[in-house]
Amino acid sequence: MDCIFCKIIAGEIPCYKVYEDSRHLAFLDVSPCADGHTMVIPKKHADAFAEMSPEEAGALFEAVNKVSGQILKRMDGVTGLTIGMNTYESAGQTVMHTHVHIFPRFKGDGGGTTHSIVNSAKSADPGYLKQICERLTCE
Ligand code: 5GP
Ligand code: ZN
Repeated sequence: MDCIFCKIIAGEIPCYKVYEDSRHLAFLDVSPCADGHTMVIPKKHADAFAEMSPEEAGALFEAVNKVSGQILKRMDGVTGLTIGMNTYESAGQTVMHTHVHIFPRFKGDGGGTTHSIVNSAKSADPGYLKQICERLTCE
């Protein structure tokens, strides 16, 4: 498979590795948005988060939790984190191997919040929210 992250996992492409366990790898983004910008990936290829099993997704976030703690403890000047995933093309995913971005945040870094990513809601009308809620309710 022609997947750049699978090649990193296989050691065919080098990376700045910050964490590894039997199922996950975390490494610095080659084109960082902030000092310490790290990605956590599962070693088993899945195009996107929604295609992982609940168990795999949970394990991935355990690794994210671990790496997040290390960044908060060890990165000079860090005072917060933004954690996120671009899932599928509409959301800007460019590497089709699930990955969680961890962006270290620094006081006054000028960055936005997750709320600044998109602003396309048609309405916040209670009736409309109720309709959406009914459609999205999970077992
Ligand atoms: P996406 O836009 O899919 O959420 O993020 C993909 C990320 O992977 C980008 O931030 C990009 O800089 C990073 N990236 C792409 N190719 C490589 C690579 O070969 N090595 C590393 N470390 N990061 C990469
Ligand atoms: Zn892959």
